[in-house]
Amino acid sequence: MGREIKRVPVDFDQPLKEVWPGYLMPDTFDEGTCPDCQSGYAPHAQYLHDLWYGYVPFDPRSTGSKPLTPKSPAVHAFAERNVTSSPEYYGTDKTAVYREAMRLADLWNGSWSHHLAQEDVDALVAEGRLMDFTHTWSRETRWQPKDPPVTPTAAQVNEWSLSGFGHDSINASIVVRARCEREGFEATCPTCHGHGSLEAYPGQRAEAEAWERAEPPEGDGWQLWETVSEGSPVSPVFPDAEGLARWLTTDAAGLAKCSTIEGARRFVKAGWAPSMMSSPETGVVSGVEWVATRGGAS
Ligand SMILES: [Zn+2]
Repeated sequence: MGREIKRVPVDFDQPLKEVWPGYLMPDTFDEGTCPDCQSGYAPHAQYLHDLWYGYVPFDPRSTGSKPLTPKSPAVHAFAERNVTSSPEYYGTDKTAVYREAMRLADLWNGSWSHHLAQEDVDALVAEGRLMDFTHTWSRETRWQPKDPPVTPTAAQVNEWSLSGFGHDSINASIVVRARCEREGFEATCPTCHGHGSLEAYPGQRAEAEAWERAEPPEGDGWQLWETVSEGSPVSPVFPDAEGLARWLTTDAAGLAKCSTIEGARRFVKAGWAPSMMSSPETGVVSGVEWVATRGGAS
């Protein structure tokens, strides 16, 4: 990500500030949507996924979990923190914490992700998840499995899931798939084999995977490119390095403007600069100016 000097043909006429087409995967690789799924799950797995996130009605008792109440310690503590940090929003009357605890309990009772059964927890442990429970961590030894091995209880994991970090989408997928397997359901959409989309023509996916960026043609010209987006030319093509260096000292160079011609020559020679640089002495400065002042990083 930054500014780059490219050698292109002197008559290269790619429009300025437009991404070089060779850097963009062609639209012809866009796949069609799968008619039978939303994101690669078979119907039962999609239902369980929605249950995990609370998009469909969920009852904690269905997994043997105890419904949360405003008095559950973790709920009460969370509500107290919310109210204390934004009293202007939640109010300061006696029932403010209770009201917020009620809201949180309702919200969290509606998601399977906060009410796992022990089998769900076991599936996560088997896949090497829940490291907070099963491993110790230190700077010297990094993650180390506890000895003897520890399997957390569902109640412990469910309380932890309220803490803010909680489960990620990988955990969701592991638990959904493990439950499908236990209940004898196919987890993956048979129509698209889990891709969530279908090839528009046979071999499209393999072609898309084999696709590689194509660089612009090489030549004797000198041109400034920005690589903050996929990459596009931002200066005219100059027949020599000096022409580009002179242009770099003008306002037309925008954020790539160099304050001296010597600096501009140094940047052209270095060939690349990051978008921004910062140091205690300079603060944040343009990467081009940084390279112009100091030379490139070898
Ligand atoms: Zn599908």
